[in-house]
Order: sequence, then structure tokens, then C-alpha cells
Amino acid sequence: MKAVQIVKPNELKIIDMEKPVIDEKNNVLIKMTAAGICGSDVGIYHGTNAAATYPRVIGHEMVGRVDQVGPGVSGLKPGDRVIVNQVTNCGHCYPCKIGRGNVCDNLAVRGVHIDGGYREFIAVPESDCYLLPDSISDTDAIMIEPTTIAIQSCSRAELTKDDMLLIFGSGALGSSILKIARLMCDHIIVADIMDEKLEAAKENGAKYTINVLKEDLVEKVKEYTFGHGSTVSIDSACTKDSLMSLLKATGNAGRVMTMGFSVAPTEVNQFLITSKELDVRGSRLQNKRFGDAIRLINEGKLDLNGTVSHTFPLEKAQEAFDFVDSRDPSIRKIALTFA
Ligand code: MN
Ligand code: ZN
Repeated sequence: MKAVQIVKPNELKIIDMEKPVIDEKNNVLIKMTAAGICGSDVGIYHGTNAAATYPRVIGHEMVGRVDQVGPGVSGLKPGDRVIVNQVTNCGHCYPCKIGRGNVCDNLAVRGVHIDGGYREFIAVPESDCYLLPDSISDTDAIMIEPTTIAIQSCSRAELTKDDMLLIFGSGALGSSILKIARLMCDHIIVADIMDEKLEAAKENGAKYTINVLKEDLVEKVKEYTFGHGSTVSIDSACTKDSLMSLLKATGNAGRVMTMGFSVAPTEVNQFLITSKELDVRGSRLQNKRFGDAIRLINEGKLDLNGTVSHTFPLEKAQEAFDFVDSRDPSIRKIALTFA
């Protein structure tokens, strides 16, 4: 079967690999139908994702159809449409024991530490498969994974209806977070450097927007929060200065969420954290959030249809990644499809 392998940074190859067989543990064989290209996949391709190891078959936004089931499978049958959990964990370390397997000491993420979904077939445990609603196409269903990442960060932030939320960065990550956050609170400020993205954020439920190239972030956030500052700030820009900016924009007793993967040192200021008693928290991947995302779709609260702007067949993965690099403004989300 065919697969897309990142041999080493900046070298993408279509390889032939052995089709997986099901066993006791990986008891469901899935024929892939769609796989998303995420910013982190691009990072692995370019060698800027600190977590990745090479060579790697990437792809962690994995949608397919059940092809074959093994012994012990009770809830799935051939033909079922599923999305696959990318997180695998050991189940016995400290984080696993306290129910936080997404930061397992022995974490293995499909498409990052172990081979992922840019291949025709993948074998996984039944417990990692989530049935898709009929209302969503295979291609659009890849967006369920980014949605789980957004649910995770809002949950780690303990976002409530009374919060005044600042989402810093309105790219793919920030707009997914906005889609979830607006279900939980009304007072949402989105900051970015591009007016078009801010306009889209407004249409999608942001109450206020700030263009940080034209306006002073801290001043504007204060203005939009009755002088207090945001009560929750989520960093979906993940730039060199973003954490410091959010420490400044967040009010006393607030929470500041980091989501970046850069290992470059960044300047922070202890006094800001101490004097305001800020909680600075990381949010990584997602902790069994697929069920939550699918429930929101079924309840009609979340519509992911039409988010994918471009599709490329698996064999044209190079073209797809080159297209991402072109930063074409029409790109919203790209999916690889399978014959
Ligand atoms: Mn992703
Ligand atoms: Zn563990």
C-alpha cells in the first residue's frame, strides 16, 4: 500500500509499505478516506516540530471506513465511518493514572512518534475509533480533530459563561477555539494581524476584534473588559512575544493558556504572573474529546461542513505541502483523499 513518509526534514516521499494486519490489540483495520494537513504536519515536514522523530508516516487527522474487525470488537462493523484518536498512551504512569493520558510519560502520537494516517490502511484498537454522524462528509470530518484540540484548551482554561476571553491569533487553531468558546461564553475578543481574519472572527461570534499591527493590544483588551483585562487568554498565535503579551493583557486572577511547540526561549516577566496570581497552563493535544465534538455536531451546535477548502489525492502530497508553503490566501484547510 502507498504511504507518505517524511524521510527527514524537508524530504517527502511516497513509499510502498506493508499493509497492516489486525491483531488482539490493534483489532480494527481501517481503510483511510481522508486525512487533514495540520500546521504540526507542516512543522514535521520542515523539521520545526520538536516532538517528531524521523522517518515518519505523518498524518494525525484520520478519517476512514472500517475494513475488517478482529476478535473482541463489539461496537464496529465493516463499512462504519470513523475518526481515529491520534493519542496512544501507556495507562500506568502518573498522568495516565490521574486521567490525563494526553500527557502520558510514554506518549506516542500517531503521525508524530509512531506512524500516522497518510497511508491507505491503518490498524488501531477499537477504543480509538469514533463513529461519525451521517451529517458530515469524510472530508469535513477531519475537522473533528482540530475541534478536539479546541475543546481541550477551553477545558484546561476552565472557561465559563462569565469569562471575558481573549483569543490571540485567528488562524486555523484560533478559529477552531472560537467555534467552541462561543458555545461557552459571549464575551470574546479576538486579536490577529490580518483584517480579513478578524472580520471572519466577528462573523463567527467574536464580540470585539483587535488588529495588533494597528492597535495596542493591552490598551484595547482593557477597554473591552471594563478596565480589568481578560479573565482567560488563549495563545493560538504561539509567536516569540505572544506569551508576554498575554501576561500583560490578562487581568488579576486570570488564566493564560499556552499551546505552542517552539523550544526557543521566550521572555516572560515574573512580576506579572506573581502580582496578578495568573495561572499559566499548557494545553496539549486532547484528552478523549472526540465524543464531545461528535455530540456537539449531533446536537446541531457545531457545523464543520465546508471548512475544507482544498483536497489533494494522497499521491500528490508533495503538491499539497508545496501549496501550503505558498501561503495562498484561499487556503483554509487542506485534506488528502484516498482513491
Ligand atoms: Mn491537527
Ligand atoms: Zn502513561
